Amino acid sequence: MADYRNLIDGEMVDNGEWLEVLNPANEKVVGRVPACGKDELDRAVAAARRAFKDWKKTSPEERQKVVQGIAAAIKENADELFRLLTSEQGKPHAQAQQEIYGAAGLAAAQSTLTLDDVVNQDDDTRLSRTRRVPVGVVGGIVPWNFPVMMAIQKIVPALVAGCTIVLKPSPFTPLTTLRIAELIKDVVPAGTVNIITGEDHLGPMITEHPDIDKITFTGSTATGKKIMEGASGDLKRITLELGGNDASIVLPDADVEKVAEQLFWSSFSNAGQVCIAAKRVYIHKDIYDDLSKAIAEYAKTVVVGDGSQQGTGVGPIQNKKQYERVLELIQDAKDNGYKFLTGGDKDPSGTGYYVPITILDNPPEDARIVAEEQFGPVMPLLKFDSIDEVIERANNSEYGLAGAVWTKDTDKGVEIAEQLETGTVWINEFMHLSPFSPFGGHKQSGFGAEYGLDGLKEFTYPQVITVKRDAAV
Ligand code: NAD
Repeated sequence: MADYRNLIDGEMVDNGEWLEVLNPANEKVVGRVPACGKDELDRAVAAARRAFKDWKKTSPEERQKVVQGIAAAIKENADELFRLLTSEQGKPHAQAQQEIYGAAGLAAAQSTLTLDDVVNQDDDTRLSRTRRVPVGVVGGIVPWNFPVMMAIQKIVPALVAGCTIVLKPSPFTPLTTLRIAELIKDVVPAGTVNIITGEDHLGPMITEHPDIDKITFTGSTATGKKIMEGASGDLKRITLELGGNDASIVLPDADVEKVAEQLFWSSFSNAGQVCIAAKRVYIHKDIYDDLSKAIAEYAKTVVVGDGSQQGTGVGPIQNKKQYERVLELIQDAKDNGYKFLTGGDKDPSGTGYYVPITILDNPPEDARIVAEEQFGPVMPLLKFDSIDEVIERANNSEYGLAGAVWTKDTDKGVEIAEQLETGTVWINEFMHLSPFSPFGGHKQSGFGAEYGLDGLKEFTYPQVITVKRDAAV
């Protein structure tokens, strides 16, 4: 067990008060982090404000160099970082490795993004151009499912845009982020990146802080609503990446053997704790029996266990609260007599937050386990008859994050995608995010974007400068 300190104004610091972080695989303490409040937040925000004065004037090339330094620091220490990530988050080593290398890759790729001026008018009377100006000090708040990726996808575009940032990891998963803070302490200019830890109550202090200009938040829809309220006091800019209840639609021409394994991982990667996991899988009636059988057969080959052990495919749920919520949804399905293809038989008394791979056989559309975001290793398979019907069912959700269509007829897939009310739709794959394409939700999955130039723009405001050319002065 080790102590991890916060990064404030270029120094690793603590306040003598500590929060313990548990390993969800065995419920043992793996590390401690500072339990911060208003004082530490004020210090971090003041440092970010001071640093902003110089950082906003740096050239894109200077910023690119710093961000590439972050990417290199993560990559060079990937081995240590992915093991630490598994120990606090629970995900199997291979998936933790993907997250760490993915975060380094994202930083390297996004370091190259620039927002060029746009000329609006250029004639004898006026030259008018729009430039993108960094908003100032950003407050970043992240969840526990992809703690490193989410931290990097907020820190990097903030820096690239010319902003400085105060970032708060989830109290459940702050360790790897703080280790990265230590690694980049001398890579980033003092005060440009500040990382402070604390319980949930630190969140509202950030959203309401008068010297923070923008909030970028990833987390639940319920918290997103509170953030919107908290940020309204001084009309802070906000980007909200919230929950999802993504639908996968499998057309009758899909090859059962080829898609079974991919569909499985679209729901069970990271133990289902992915905002863009397939949480409702609609299968055409002509292939429903064969495909559901193939998915259930594949599920039997996947080991649920401690993510640090070789061979584990699905790790524990990250924290007790979420574990109890997933068990409650499974119990509700049992109480209602829905049919299980796998799972549903867990004795919740052992050590570690393990939930068996749970696949449901065509439960009703209004079952809680279908209508709510499960955020666990649960996959309801649902039978459909016609395309119009399945589009209506897929869209019948308060969420609008992502979705997928599986078919050999990619034109048909695109035609269906265009009718889905979500920010992203994949044809014949899932969860693929590009550093250069915007990612964001519709409806109660949030608004604004991350990734790509659209994501970068969210850290700026447009300033139009117009020169009157035929002025009489
Ligand atoms: P959460 O909303 O409980 O917590 C997220 C963060 O907000 C944590 O750092 C927490 O400490 C902080 N927080 C809690 N209360 C706050 C408040 N009142 N004000 C400000 N901050 C507060 O979410 P979680 O349980 O950590 O994450 C799971 C959720 O995140 C799921 O709903 C999932 O779908 C969503 N998620 C969305 C995306 C996306 O990109 N759309 C990505 C990953 C996760």
